[in-house]
Amino acid sequence: MRIRIEEAAAHAGHEVEIHGWLYHRRSSGSIHFLLVRDGSGVMQCVMTKQEVPVASFALADGLTQESSIIVRGRVREDRRAPGGHELAVTGLDVVHLAEPYPITPKEHGVEFLMDHRHLWLRSRRQHAIMRIRAELIQACTSFLDGRGFLRMDAPILTPASVEGTTTLFETPYFDLGSAYLTQSGQLYNEAAAMAFGQVYCLGPTFRAEKSKTRRHLTEFWMLEPEAAYMTLDEYMVLAEEMVTAAVDQVLERRRTELAVLERDTAALERVRPPFPRISYDDALDRLNEADKSLPWGEDFGAEQETVISAQFDRPVFVHHYPATCKAFYMQPAEDRPDVVLSADLLAPEGYGEIIGGGQRIHDLTLLEQRLREHHLPSDVYRWYLDLRRYGSVPHSGFGLGIERTVAWICGIEHIREAIPFPRLLNRLYP
Ligand code: ATP
Ligand code: MG
Repeated sequence: MRIRIEEAAAHAGHEVEIHGWLYHRRSSGSIHFLLVRDGSGVMQCVMTKQEVPVASFALADGLTQESSIIVRGRVREDRRAPGGHELAVTGLDVVHLAEPYPITPKEHGVEFLMDHRHLWLRSRRQHAIMRIRAELIQACTSFLDGRGFLRMDAPILTPASVEGTTTLFETPYFDLGSAYLTQSGQLYNEAAAMAFGQVYCLGPTFRAEKSKTRRHLTEFWMLEPEAAYMTLDEYMVLAEEMVTAAVDQVLERRRTELAVLERDTAALERVRPPFPRISYDDALDRLNEADKSLPWGEDFGAEQETVISAQFDRPVFVHHYPATCKAFYMQPAEDRPDVVLSADLLAPEGYGEIIGGGQRIHDLTLLEQRLREHHLPSDVYRWYLDLRRYGSVPHSGFGLGIERTVAWICGIEHIREAIPFPRLLNRLYP
């Protein structure tokens, strides 16, 4: 019977078949230790000369790393084996004998590994990161589903910008001129929220970021909830509950993966609501005290975010940013029109902003004025303005960057490992 390695424990004492690849081989005269991976896990398969046909034993002698193989044998408990079980091999088929594999157990430079990303994904560390990524997405979407948010995906080809025109990818679009790859699903999400009350979208977003940092991809995934009648304070409560639920689920179900990454899980255990909330003005004071002062009105960069988040043991919200450093659609504060009802969530341990969000302008005249101030063409936003003509209500939403969050939860240095095939300023291959 064919099984997946992760189910091995349930088959102890039975004959099974594993379809996979050779991860590593150690051999002595009369015994082969084959470390076999099948995507669900890694299992030690022990082949002794007496127990297999002569031809099979010889076949194993010539097996190269990453050859695809089918092994048969009996599952037996072994406390020392990875996963607690090993396979006493009785048969082996070679599906494909691999050419000399470029990624060996020795150290490789990052550029070399990135050039071989299609193969690098087979390694244990990448498996751990990808499983945590999938767990995070699953946790967040099921959290929102459970709260009555409807998944409503947004288009990727769009006629206009959401986050400003400097980071737009443009592409020719038949007779209609240019289309732009979406920077965020938010504007469409607002329409969906007016139709369904509470919605979210999850998909790739694109930013032609010219910055070479360890936090920026040119293509990244964003999870964006949006809700009618939701205030800034309600958004912050929703976001902290979602982040906490996701971290909890990873801690509960991906312990092994966190251990592979040598992640300090104590830091993740501290992620408990309520998250601290500080205003932009307060953040500026803190930067001043730390000798990293910034003129009022400027947005924080990685350096400032690191100083602020280092003062807290869990994620921190920074709210009420100056209108000048936020997008055109941000609702101004009632008593202070120079600041907006926005809040960003900064991850601890120097991982920077993982969420950006806030309350959107619901007044037609004000929104029209902002479009003019930002030199945005009102014709392509006609539909968006309609949302302020027909039953406009205060509403809020936010965007969680999947890869930034994965990088933080995994404790990895660079965002490039948080997505299967990273797209960076200087990388489009493989
Ligand atoms: P930053 O100032 O850090 O570049 P931003 O303010 O442009 O980010 P938002 O427009 O608020 O980001 O996007 C929401 C979220 O999307 C961010 O909190 C972050 O998690 C993620 N994000 C934004 N830009 C990128 C990027 N280039 N690569 C990966 N994730 C990103
Ligand atoms: Mg932001």
